[in-house]
Amino acid sequence: NTFAEIDLGEALNLNIRRCKYVKPTPVQRYTIPISLAGRDLMACAQTGSGKTAAFCFPIISGIMRGPVPQKPVRGARTVFPLALILSPTRELSMQIHEEARKFSYQTGVKVVVAYGGAPINQQLRELERGVDILVATPGRLVDLLERARVSLQMIRYLALDEADRMLDMGFEPQIRKIVQQMDMPPPGVRQTMLFSATFPREIQRLASDFLANYIFLAV
Ligand code: AMP
Repeated sequence: NTFAEIDLGEALNLNIRRCKYVKPTPVQRYTIPISLAGRDLMACAQTGSGKTAAFCFPIISGIMRGPVPQKPVRGARTVFPLALILSPTRELSMQIHEEARKFSYQTGVKVVVAYGGAPINQQLRELERGVDILVATPGRLVDLLERARVSLQMIRYLALDEADRMLDMGFEPQIRKIVQQMDMPPPGVRQTMLFSATFPREIQRLASDFLANYIFLAV
């Protein structure tokens, strides 16, 4: 009933208190336990429903408590994020990044954002300093993958935010290309969360292609 009752890890619970979040919103109340249990999820969520925290908390908590990953050796400039949050626009990516940074304060989890419509060089420098959670727009991420500056081989958590809007904006080919680059996991290793305000046939198709044995939630 309150965040204090959900064990997300000491540092994250403290940050949640600092942000003055006491009670989970309905979306958070239903999705967080499912994600903490390791299940894939497709959730109906509107802007303002608290969906950012709904996908950030399980990701941050899981990375904080997960094993320290052995990163493959690749080009020195290639980085290996553990979580990817895809969002349709620069503005939304910036907002998610800002929230995720507050929640990951002093957890040791590093969040970086990369979006299109802005010079890539500063984003590259930011990535070089290390990244656990990458927040990105699909087009810019494809660019980073083509430059071999990001590898998705280590992704354990994938969140697709406002999936319907990403499809409306024509990002389906990029999204499919991105997900194809994630290593084929043994069942249950990569956890995927899909958030969308609407559920047309194209979104249902994405869900059946990207999610495994998932739970559908309409709050
Ligand atoms: P979102 O839908 O993720 O964009 O969140 C909408 C707004 O609600 C943001 O300003 C959040 O910081 C805030 N918020 C999200 N969850 C909670 C919560 N459990 N308690 C209080 N504020 C929240």
